[in-house]
Amino acid sequence: MKISAITVFQIDLPLSEPYYLSGGRLKFELLDSTFVRIDTDEGLTGWGEACPWGHTYLPAHGPGVRAGIETLAPVLIGTDPLALDALNRLMDVTLPGHPYVKSAIDMACWDILGQKAGLPLWRLLGGDTATAVAVNSSISTGTPDEMISLIQKASAKGYRTHSAKIGGTDIAQDIERIEAITAALPADEHVTFDVNRAWLPATAIQVLNSVSARDWVEQPCQTLGECAHVASRVAQPIMLDECMHDFSDHLQAWKIAACEGVKVKPNRLGGLTKAKQVRDFGVSIGWQMHIEDLGGSALADTAAIHLAASTPDANRLASWLCHYHLSVDPVPGQGARNIDGFATPPSTPGLGVIPDEALLGAPIATYR
Ligand code: MG
Repeated sequence: MKISAITVFQIDLPLSEPYYLSGGRLKFELLDSTFVRIDTDEGLTGWGEACPWGHTYLPAHGPGVRAGIETLAPVLIGTDPLALDALNRLMDVTLPGHPYVKSAIDMACWDILGQKAGLPLWRLLGGDTATAVAVNSSISTGTPDEMISLIQKASAKGYRTHSAKIGGTDIAQDIERIEAITAALPADEHVTFDVNRAWLPATAIQVLNSVSARDWVEQPCQTLGECAHVASRVAQPIMLDECMHDFSDHLQAWKIAACEGVKVKPNRLGGLTKAKQVRDFGVSIGWQMHIEDLGGSALADTAAIHLAASTPDANRLASWLCHYHLSVDPVPGQGARNIDGFATPPSTPGLGVIPDEALLGAPIATYR
């Protein structure tokens, strides 16, 4: 099989409400998503989506996705989309780094592989059933009362795990947020306090040693080294996210005992192929993982839910669904959706999500 065409679409995904991270220093209102359709000489077509969470969250840029695909496409035309490791090596030689550029291409090739094999992605990724994956809410930074109100709204939709975004310059305010949310949380619900790298190590140590909560704390500081320093001096389990860009970061995090778990995000890592490598490593060393994408519609969410569903229960924490924050839905009703706190991956061959091209607008580029 050979790739015969790569077609690129751009779509703006507005958030239903403004969203604040990192103690309020980062604000998000609109996501810039790229959809990729890969056609083959055997008539199979695969879909992928790459959608950074704005331009300030990570070194990943919506227009950069399209620019990178323009560079990669001429090299990929004529190659075998089923040979995913070879395809990823070719992409890495052609354009080192820029993992967020490659994820939509890799995802579309997994979709083609699944259709060719007649198997859903959760099966190809190693799962034995279409496991219903617990979903994880994402609670924008605010006052303790505002955040508790958002958690209660999420609970009413079935969410039992919440990612509460904290991390400011005011130590007392963060302590107050953690204590108030912990006190308000029902016994059967869980919270991760996600700092989104806002603290300096001393602030992290002061805050975390001042609170009674022993819940997960995510990405307290900017770098892996800073987070490892904090992890050795606090009682809470540490989850790492934004500082984990490639496999070697994960290997190093394990070597220096920087964390007990990681977020596995295909768009941050370069696609499902590389996310699966990290997931398999995490299972081998006993990490717990939230497996979800960086952003995007239900198409990107569904790809991540396939990987989550194929992960052992003991290693799998809840998954966030970005599409619940959006005011538009370019794949109406399709894919993994929240049903009373759980999302189940499709069992049709491949990814199981086919966008209506009329909703994507005219393609911005087609490479043949
Ligand atoms: Mg995070």
